[in-house]
Amino acid sequence: MAFDHQLFRQQFPYFQHNENAVYFDNAATTLKPQVLIDSTVAFYQSAGSVHRSQYDENQTALYEQARARVKALINAESEDAVIWTSGTTQAVNIVANGLLAQLSADDEIIISEADHHANFVTWQQIAKKCGAKIIVLPITDQWLIDEQALQQALNERTKLVALNFVSNVTGTEQPVEKLIKLIRKKTRAFVLVDAAQAISHLNIDIQRLDADFIAFSAHKIYGPNGLGVLSGKLSALEQLQPLIFGGKMVDRVSKSHISFAPLPYRLEAGTPNIAAVIGFSAVLHWLENWDIEQAESYVRQLTEQIKVRLKNYPNCQLFESPQPSSVISFVFKHIASSDLATLLTEQGIALRTGEHCAQPYLARLGESSTLRLSLAPYNNTEEIDAFFNALNNALNLLEIE
Ligand code: PMP
Repeated sequence: MAFDHQLFRQQFPYFQHNENAVYFDNAATTLKPQVLIDSTVAFYQSAGSVHRSQYDENQTALYEQARARVKALINAESEDAVIWTSGTTQAVNIVANGLLAQLSADDEIIISEADHHANFVTWQQIAKKCGAKIIVLPITDQWLIDEQALQQALNERTKLVALNFVSNVTGTEQPVEKLIKLIRKKTRAFVLVDAAQAISHLNIDIQRLDADFIAFSAHKIYGPNGLGVLSGKLSALEQLQPLIFGGKMVDRVSKSHISFAPLPYRLEAGTPNIAAVIGFSAVLHWLENWDIEQAESYVRQLTEQIKVRLKNYPNCQLFESPQPSSVISFVFKHIASSDLATLLTEQGIALRTGEHCAQPYLARLGESSTLRLSLAPYNNTEEIDAFFNALNNALNLLEIE
């Protein structure tokens, strides 16, 4: 069945409560469908935890079914390779701290200007702890990781390469599969893919990508806040030392000896975010009803329309991804992005302005702040018209043609 964006929009109660609002901040977080709200209410109307008691068996079954749905979403090797985290950021931190015991002052860690602070800051801090050298790859004028620089940086000391999949600043998609092949040819380094922005836009097959680790957040794909996934090769995940210790991540505990549980529990200490996991599972099940490829091509068409219209403004500078995407970053010359954002927000346009948790990226763009629109399949052309009306009003107020 062809993708019906109106029907898709009806699944999101936000629009019933905010009739004239324009939500163009989907790269920050997506809206939540009714199915997530229903599932969350149902969970909180029930009792118990998971994996604790006989009476919570139903809850436990729903909770574990969620792993199977994530496994299917990204073609993970096994359900044991689906580890619940609080988000992409925590997943990256679990990997970084989990590898710390293997890292030394002789090692090199490669990140890039394309990285979100979740990677940029975490790997810098880990490098500080172990003395490893951090190499920051430049990105080209098309915002792609410089392959030549990567080739030159790779050597036998390279211990980990963190790759941004899709940028939250420009929407640029890195050729991750090709980059990983290149890395595998020259090193035995671990590869971590930050799929926070990719997860809702691309069909991800982690086994085909050949990544060791992949991280994403549920809230960026219609799921709840406070939940993310760390996945990857079992052989790589098994090498991670737990970052957090406590209940359920252990096998045997005595006064003198502790043995850890197998994956995934070894990396999931404490009572998990059960409502979020079960809610996310409901969202993934609901997503199976929609043709995501068609939805994505619809979003890209909408985004293209905005780009074409923005190019009619002589003072507007766009930072375009080389491929079609759902993200548009732009500035207006001689206008502070924050001023424009304030005037747009006052007119009901939800968008993002600032550094997008990616200061090195912004430095590469030569900007301290950009405006960012990011679209989802529930957006439509009426909202685009409303945005341009609001933009014209704002520019008139600021007396810029
Ligand atoms: N990486 C990228 C590319 C992102 O866009 C984000 C969220 N803006 C993150 C990592 C961090 O995700 P979270 O805040 O959900 O942990």
